Amino acid sequence: MSRAEALATFARENIAPTADSLIRQDAFPHDIWRAMGAAGHLGYGLADWGGTAVDRATLFDLGEALADGAEVIGFATAWMTHHMVAGGVIAPFATQAQAAAILPRVARGELSCCIAISEPGAGAHPKHLKTRAEKTATGWRLTGEKAWLTNGPIAGLFVVVAIVGEEAGRKRFGAFLVPEDAPGLSRTDGIRIDFARPSGHCGIRMDGVDLPDDAFLAGAGDAVETVLKRFRRIEDAQGLSLKAGGMAVEIRRLGAILPADQAAALAGLAADRELFRTAARALLIDSDGDPASPAHEARLLSLRAFARGFQGRVRELLAAAMQDDGFLKLLCRDMTELGRVAERVDQAKLARSGAALLQGSKA
Ligand SMILES: Cc1cc2nc3c(=O)[nH]c(=O)nc-3n(C[C@H](O)[C@H](O)[C@H](O)COP(=O)(O)OP(=O)(O)OC[C@H]3O[C@@H](n4cnc5c(N)ncnc54)[C@H](O)[C@@H]3O)c2cc1C
Repeated sequence: MSRAEALATFARENIAPTADSLIRQDAFPHDIWRAMGAAGHLGYGLADWGGTAVDRATLFDLGEALADGAEVIGFATAWMTHHMVAGGVIAPFATQAQAAAILPRVARGELSCCIAISEPGAGAHPKHLKTRAEKTATGWRLTGEKAWLTNGPIAGLFVVVAIVGEEAGRKRFGAFLVPEDAPGLSRTDGIRIDFARPSGHCGIRMDGVDLPDDAFLAGAGDAVETVLKRFRRIEDAQGLSLKAGGMAVEIRRLGAILPADQAAALAGLAADRELFRTAARALLIDSDGDPASPAHEARLLSLRAFARGFQGRVRELLAAAMQDDGFLKLLCRDMTELGRVAERVDQAKLARSGAALLQGSKA
C-alpha cells in the first residue's frame, strides 16, 4: 500500500466518521492528531529527523488523499501547515542544533510549529509590518503583535518574522524560533476566522520577549524573500493538492443529491477536477515545490483562479439539488474562503506581470 493510500485509509476510518461535527467545531481533535502521529502521518518530508522521505508527487498525493478521505478541508489544512512550517522553513534554514531540537518532535507529532508573519492592520505586506527584534547582550528582544496564525492554538513554537534593522531606508527582516512559553509571549484571539474548522487560528503578542542568540534563524537571511514570499508560493502550490481532494468530495456528495438533468453538469465538473489535479500535481513536481520562476508562477496563478471558479459552479449545482446537504454547503464555504486567502497577492502579481506584458507589446 502506498503512503497516500495508507493516509486515505486512516482518514476514512478515523476522521470521516466524525466529519459532520469536525467541520462545525472549534475544538481541535487532539485525539485524532495523536493517532496520526503514532501512525507516522505527521513526519512527511522529515526523513533526516525520524520522519518519512517523500518526493513532490507523493506530497501532492498525500494532501489530496487526506482532504478526500477525511472530507474536512480544515483538518487537512492543519496537517499541511504542520508539514510546511517544519519542512519548508525550519528544515532548510535551521542549523543542525536548531533542527535537532525541534524536528524529531515535529515528526513524532509531539510538537507543531506555526508561521507568524501577518499583523493586525498590516496583513503580510512587508512595508507595513511592525514587529521588531532588537539585539541585546545575550540575544534578541522581540516586540510586536501577529494575527491569523493557522495552528496557533496548538503550536509549541512560532516562527516569527521581525524587523532586524534598516538599510538605506528599507526595513530588513529576520526569522526567529519562539517557544510558546517564552516570557512575555501571550496568545490573543487575533482576527476571527469563521471557517476551515477544526483548524484553529489565533494571534500572539510579544511584549519584550527575550530570546537567546540561537533562536535566530540566521540561515534564512532576508526573511522577506526566504520566508514570507517563499512560504506563500509553497503554501499556494501545496494547497492545490488539498483543493483537488476537496473537489472530489464535492463531486461525490453532489452525485447523491442532484437530479438526472444535472448529470452532464456534474460530469463536466468531474472532468475539470481531473484536469486541475493533473496540472497541479505536474506544477508541484516541475517546480520542485517552489514555483518561483515566472512560468511556474503563471501556472500557479491560473490554477488558483481555476479553483475559485470551480467553487462558483459547485454553488450553482447546490442550488439545483433535490435536497439540502448541510455538510456540503459548509465544505463549499470553506473551500471558497480558503481560495480567497492571498487573493490580493495573486492580484498584485498579475498586475505586475500584466504591466510587463503591456509594455512588451508597445515596445
Ligand atoms: C485562513 C487564513 C489563514 C492564515 N494563516 C496565516 C498564518 O499561518 N500565518 C500568517 O502569518 N498569516 C496567516 N494568514 C494571513 C494572510 O496571509 C493575510 O496576511 C491576511 O489574510 C490579510 O490578507 P490581505 O488580503 O490583506 O493581503 P495580504 O496577503 O496580507 O497581502 C497584502 C499585500 O502585501 C503584498 N504581499 C503580501 N505577501 C506577498 C507575497 N508573498 N508576495 C508578494 N507580495 C505580497 C501584496 O502587495 C498584497 O496585496 C491567514 C489568513 C487566513 C484568512
